[in-house]
Amino acid sequence: MSAELDALYQEVILDHNRKPKNFREIPDAQRSAEGKNPLCGDQFRVFVNLEGDRIADVSFTGTGCAISRASASIMTATVKGKSLDEAGSMFEKFHDLVTGKFAGDPKPLGQMAVFSGVSKYPVRVKCASLSWHTLRSALEGRTDPVTTDERQPL
Ligand code: ZN
Repeated sequence: MSAELDALYQEVILDHNRKPKNFREIPDAQRSAEGKNPLCGDQFRVFVNLEGDRIADVSFTGTGCAISRASASIMTATVKGKSLDEAGSMFEKFHDLVTGKFAGDPKPLGQMAVFSGVSKYPVRVKCASLSWHTLRSALEGRTDPVTTDERQPL
């Protein structure tokens, strides 16, 4: 990755960290789940409302480092309005990206592409993927908090 692209990605991450999208509670959400990344102290709750098999609304609250907050922000913006299948496929692509397995042009990933550098930092992979794991947990209707530690390998 070029230094310019790196700097651009960093700028996007910092911007989402400062002004996260969908950073709010959904009162009476149909689904919600809690996710924790004890290694870093990231802790989020993700809220989801479905209409049929479509994610009508999704949001998050909680605290975390810049990468985890930016990732949660971008995750909500990415899956909002998508079908469950589409969201699942996005999660797979994101997962491949942050674990360094994504091959090809990251452009279709949209803003998720800013996390392509994360694969170089294993600790940060957990920060970046926490909100996605938490989303999946909410969609699966799990009630126990998900922690990144129990889902090795990420
Ligand atoms: Zn973190």
